[in-house]
Amino acid sequence: MRRPGKIVCVGRNYVEHAKELGNEVPKEPLLFLKPPSSVVFDGEPILLPDMSRRVEHEGEIGVIIGTRLRQGDEAAARAAVLGLTCVNDVTARDLQKSDGQWTRAKGFDTFCPMGPVLMPVDAGFNFSGLEVVCRVNGVERQRGRAADMVFGIPALLAFISRVMTLEPGDLVATGTPAGIGPLVDGDVVEVEIPGVGVLKNPVRTG
Ligand code: ZN
Repeated sequence: MRRPGKIVCVGRNYVEHAKELGNEVPKEPLLFLKPPSSVVFDGEPILLPDMSRRVEHEGEIGVIIGTRLRQGDEAAARAAVLGLTCVNDVTARDLQKSDGQWTRAKGFDTFCPMGPVLMPVDAGFNFSGLEVVCRVNGVERQRGRAADMVFGIPALLAFISRVMTLEPGDLVATGTPAGIGPLVDGDVVEVEIPGVGVLKNPVRTG
């Protein structure tokens, strides 16, 4: 698995998660970026930065782009997908609130675990049949169905491609379901997409 050229993320893409943070459900996809330097792979530690008192997991379905997508419709978006992987959009929740924008809160080194495998999909793949589960120390914290997304995966990719060209190897993190919660030193966090794989990372004080 390679480090993506860019990582495009979507905020508040599940109704129940938007509600748990007291936010409205967006009328258009809410996009933000994580830096490629935040990537770690399966088994590598998530390091808790001393700038934050509240670091949280966000289990997500990750889409890896295979061919360039620019100004695409949903059919073009489907054809541009290489495959799927698990993503943890680790977030310093306190800094997300205090900074007013999300670059620092989402951008620390080790805050984008991804992997362990890239499962190839074809243009006819049923994205809405996917599910994502997040466990901390073996206890389930999040479970979401792609069918419950505000914006489905092909629509998201098409929308993003009208803003910025998606390049081969780029990663799109498609939003997290309800159940986010804190990570502390010594935890082990897993993100599973049944049928795709399980991404497992220990948590340590940075
Ligand atoms: Zn997220």
